[in-house]
Amino acid sequence: MKVLVAIKRVVDANVKIRAKADGTGVDLANVKMSLNPFDEIAVEEAVRLKERGLVSEVIAVSCGVQACQETLRTALAIGADRGILVETNAELQPLAVAKLLNVLVEREQPQLVILGKQAIDDDCNQTGQMLAALARMPQATFASKVEIADQHIDVTREIDGGLETVRLSLPAIVTTDLRLNEPRYATLPNIMKAKKKPLATVTPDELGVDVTPRLKTLKTAEPAARPAGIKVPDVATLVAKLKNEAKVI
Ligand code: AMP
Repeated sequence: MKVLVAIKRVVDANVKIRAKADGTGVDLANVKMSLNPFDEIAVEEAVRLKERGLVSEVIAVSCGVQACQETLRTALAIGADRGILVETNAELQPLAVAKLLNVLVEREQPQLVILGKQAIDDDCNQTGQMLAALARMPQATFASKVEIADQHIDVTREIDGGLETVRLSLPAIVTTDLRLNEPRYATLPNIMKAKKKPLATVTPDELGVDVTPRLKTLKTAEPAARPAGIKVPDVATLVAKLKNEAKVI
């Protein structure tokens, strides 16, 4: 069975984000970019399924600028078999990505599609759900455990105050939560091997998808600076401050 994994190139999780002075977006100049952490977990899970003999091929797909090739090479170094870059300089919103992935799902016919639960740059948490609707496939979001059987997959999901296990018939869409696995570090030999793995490039036009944004960002702003914390000498002062200044008790 084939697994298709969607991976996004995002600002590295350790970078301190700065909004552009004119509020039109995030300043990406000279900023380190990485594989979205939830997507790294998605690749790791697909590779583990392959290592257990349950999956025959892992295909990583990224949509975006040419530099997404690096992100795809990271996925190939973790263990994906081949990559597909849907190359465009256009701003891609979740619906456009879902449409692009849907065409690739039609072409590749994977039994399982794994996405991250959200991209840490736009925090949309939409693409997997939209893809499930477009591809008319069952979906399980926020997976913390997956077990594949012949015709179905059992997915344990993190829900408020507990865990829920759902059974989906295959083909299906799964989005990953943090606790699904701990991704491996790519070893140097695997990074070298990844350079030789196949990486195809297509464009949204070739896939017949119009990626024109449907939403317009009106303003991007940094959170208001918080006042510095203080140390209080004793519990009585703390209680007095909570009562009289913060007015929370
Ligand atoms: P979002 O809905 O933007 O929070 O993204 C959810 C997931 O969709 C991500 O974790 C990725 O797996 C996938 N995704 C979003 N944007 C892209 C992209 N440009 N290329 C490939 N996968 C993407």
